[in-house]
Formats: sequence, structure tokens, C-alpha cells
Amino acid sequence: MRIGVCDCQDRLTAAFLHEADKPALTKLMVTKVPIIYIAGSGHSGSTLLDLLLGSHSQIESVGEVYKYLDPQRRMRILRCTCGATIDECAYWQSVQQAATSDGEDALSAADRSHRALVAVLRVSGKRLICDSSKTLEQLAVYAEHPDLFDLQILHLVRDGRGTAFSMNRKWLRMLAQHGSAEHAKSTIRARSKNPMVYGYYVSIVRWLRLNLRIAHRFAAHPGYHAIRYEDLADNPQLGLQAIMDRLNLPFEASQLDFARQQHHNVGGNSMRVRSDSTVKKDTEYQERLSPLRWGFGTLLGLPLLLKYGYRLRRTLPSP
Ligand SMILES: [Zn+2]
Repeated sequence: MRIGVCDCQDRLTAAFLHEADKPALTKLMVTKVPIIYIAGSGHSGSTLLDLLLGSHSQIESVGEVYKYLDPQRRMRILRCTCGATIDECAYWQSVQQAATSDGEDALSAADRSHRALVAVLRVSGKRLICDSSKTLEQLAVYAEHPDLFDLQILHLVRDGRGTAFSMNRKWLRMLAQHGSAEHAKSTIRARSKNPMVYGYYVSIVRWLRLNLRIAHRFAAHPGYHAIRYEDLADNPQLGLQAIMDRLNLPFEASQLDFARQQHHNVGGNSMRVRSDSTVKKDTEYQERLSPLRWGFGTLLGLPLLLKYGYRLRRTLPSP
């Protein structure tokens, strides 16, 4: 991956800075935007899936773009995956220019999203957008406007005990780094509107509630697909081929080499800026959770653990 260099300035200039190009842009803006939306809980492997999809020749991944579409959240984004700050990245500056043109204040969330994502398609030259925002609100924007968006939903599920363990692990690291819960919360508050304390049991309840809401509200959508993080991480090629089949798109071997390609994502975890494409399934929770946490966590998450075929007993790796 190239860090700190954005090579799209020429295309951006051609796409946005010439008045003569405006009619073409206007024409594009009335078309439906094909969206692949990754729904699910945080710490469920969405960054991995986003990188794999965004490395396809026809798909442009924008990461957690809802943060960019909301001007208040946009202020909290520090850096694009290309290495430049958001304010310096020519790619996002051009998207912003298109998204904040005359009359933006009067636009609905759907129209603002559509305008920005049309700009992304134009800048990238790709045919589809992958959005890993994961919020129900952004998903509803797409689902409720079939006139503007052609939506495919990838509902990504991970074992809730693993998700909650990862969230709690992150929280404990922040506590160790900042020395107190109040200091850690103020740091999270600087990045997010809703600072969350990532307790293990609280995280399992959140995981259960969010995934049930997604399934209840969107499972009947014609573009809905439920997939498991573990199936993807166990065998990325087979897992990804199955997902591409569902999306009716050809699998490309280069997708597995995502770290060698330049991405302009916002949000997500540090995997976005790694220099190698090795996929290693995170199973630390299987070994580290105490028997008490495993047992109560299993009880709390039971409906979804059963629904998605997770073992109730832990699976320790062979010695
Ligand atoms: Zn960038």
C-alpha cells in the first residue's frame, strides 16, 4: 500500500473542477447508486470484509462513510487510509466539494448521501460502492430510497462472545493508556457522539440487540445476505468467493492482496493501514474468557448464538 500519496488529483480535477463537466455530473446524479452495505456490530470483522470487497476492480470502498457525510462527525476524522489527513486528501476534498455544493443544507440525508456517493463513483471510476458504516440509520437511508440506491446488505455476524471480548479488550487498553475511566471516556467522546463503555456483558447485550434489530428489519429485503466472520477468516478465498457469488460479481484473486492497493477509507481499525494481507482469525476470546464470563456470556447471547450456528462450548485450539 502506498502511504501518504494520493494519485487521483488529475481525475479529480477533470471530474469536479471544470465547469464544462457539470452537465455530465448532473446526468450521473439522477442514476441509482449501487451500494453494498456492511451491517453488524463493531469488532465483527467489517474492516477485513471492507478491504476484501474494496480491492475488487468494480467496487470502491469508502469505509464508515456516515462519519464523513455528517459535518459534525467529519470534524472528528483525522486521517484517510491513504495516509493524508482528511483535509489534505484530494479524493475526499473533491467528494466534499460535490457534496457541499449549493443547497446542501436543504438536502435530505438520502439526497446528501446520493450526491456524495455519485461523486465517489465518478472520482474512482468504479461501478459499486461498499459502505461499512454499520449504523442502522445509514442503512435505513439506503433501504427507504430504492429510487436512489440499489442496495445489497451484507449482515456480518461474529460470535458475540468474541465481539464482546474484543470490545472489552479495547476498553481495558484505553484505561491502561489513560489512567482513569473518565480520561478514557473523554478521549472516546472526542471521536464519537456517544461515548460507550465497553464492558463485556454490556457489549454482549448490545451485540444481541443490534443484530436482532438488523435481522428483524432487513432480513426480508431482497438484497439481504447473512454471513459469518468466522467462515470468511477460516478460509478467506472460499469465504470471499461465496460472498461474491451472492453479490453476483466475479471473484478476483487480487482481492486477497488488499494491502497492496490504495484505499481512501474513513473510520475502521488499524488493519486498514497494515502492509501485509495475511488474515488471521481472532480467537483469543476462546482461551482468555473465564468460565464465568463464558457461561453468562453464552446465556446472554443464546438466541443469536443458536441462530447463527455457534457452539455453546468453547473450542480450544489443539496443543
Ligand atoms: Zn485519501
